Amino acid sequence: MNQSKYFEPEIETLSRQEIESLQLARLQETVKRAANAPYYKKKFEEMGISPNDIKSLADLSKLPFTTKQDMRDNYPFGFLACDKKELVRLHSSSGTTGNPTVICHTKNDIATWANRVARCFYMVGLRNTDVIQNSSGYGMFTGGLGIQAGIEALGAMSIPAAAGNSRRQIKCITDFGTTAIHAIPSYALRLADVFDELGIDPAKDTKLTTFLIGAEPHTEETRRKIEQRFGVKAYNCFGMTEMSGPGVAFECTEQNGMHLWEDSYIIEIVDPQTLEPVAEGEIGEMVLTTLDREGMPLLRYRTRDLTRIIPEACPCGRTHRRIDRIKGRSDDMFIVKGVNIFPMQIEKILMQYPEVGTNYLITIKTENNNDDLIIEVEKGNAPIADPHALCKSITRKLKDELLLTPYVILREKDEIPNAEGKAVRVKDLRSKE
Ligand code: ADP
Ligand code: ZN
Repeated sequence: MNQSKYFEPEIETLSRQEIESLQLARLQETVKRAANAPYYKKKFEEMGISPNDIKSLADLSKLPFTTKQDMRDNYPFGFLACDKKELVRLHSSSGTTGNPTVICHTKNDIATWANRVARCFYMVGLRNTDVIQNSSGYGMFTGGLGIQAGIEALGAMSIPAAAGNSRRQIKCITDFGTTAIHAIPSYALRLADVFDELGIDPAKDTKLTTFLIGAEPHTEETRRKIEQRFGVKAYNCFGMTEMSGPGVAFECTEQNGMHLWEDSYIIEIVDPQTLEPVAEGEIGEMVLTTLDREGMPLLRYRTRDLTRIIPEACPCGRTHRRIDRIKGRSDDMFIVKGVNIFPMQIEKILMQYPEVGTNYLITIKTENNNDDLIIEVEKGNAPIADPHALCKSITRKLKDELLLTPYVILREKDEIPNAEGKAVRVKDLRSKE
């Protein structure tokens, strides 16, 4: 075995049987720990289950699902499974629609998380000679300190640039010889525009080789756009605060699905309505159980993210199963004239056009008792010979994809407002009666 290909060959290439026996041992430990948390203690009593009931991985189905609402209702410490003195850090997600969700970490939790992120970075070819710039916000959000600790665990040089200020980001990239950057995909594309404005060609005038893009849904077309504009390889990274943060699943150099680290998580894909498992390889809601978290273990957490398991073995030799690009969140979907639509279906079409830029906004509004779907997309840098023909062509392709006809409007650059953090793609102006 080529040692240098893997960060932890003894874990990354375990046989299925070995993964499953490791998972069972860790699940039993996790359920025992979880029983110390006030929320699960009560839940186990109500359901009449005890940690001793977990005798096989199939017994996972005896355990309760956990939702974001459960976490909000038991804010902030109802899920805490250890003594507070063991904790060293608290993270929380933004609480725009109610109480934020809070995750508390022990020293070991931080170390295993950092190791997982380092494993992801190593997988895409980053080494201790790399200079990795992190453009995520630091503070309570996990993309800041989570990526930071991963870079340090890898032993690479970190540039904790934090979010925003594109000119300063670019100065860091050029002055410090940044080779890899972690960014939200919508921000990566905005950064490309600022490079253009400054007359710097990121493909020629920087040392960038790698983009680590994640934290929001994006399409293959967006990835390719980022790769072309920067002259880099871009890898999809998936994470969420409830599962610690970045580093839950990450693409390898095959760029075909993200390895989900099965020594740290058990994955289930369920039908979001019935909560029954879907057939192998089918799309459904991803449900995750933590296996190595001490502070706040979570059982069968409903992520609301829609994806599928890619059942085939990966040519890279890693045995941890891959998840497909996230199709969207079950709560992202909107319905217009009876048609179910995910923003990513629209993005996929828009990004096929080199003439358009990267920002777009989907608005749904009611006019004369009719729901209209309006898609505004910004122009790209190159002049457009026939804007009318372009709009018509985009409209036709969208109609084929969505089975209804949207209004497509071309906007000047910067006419569509940019979000501060994750992109806001959908504005639903219909009255909710
Ligand atoms: P983070 O700070 O890591 O973005 P949040 O908890 O705020 O964590 O957001 C997590 C959510 O972001 C996920 O549930 C998912 O919907 C979305 N997300 C994260 N990474 C990706 C990705 N690579 N592709 C698509 N969606 C993603
Ligand atoms: Zn692989």
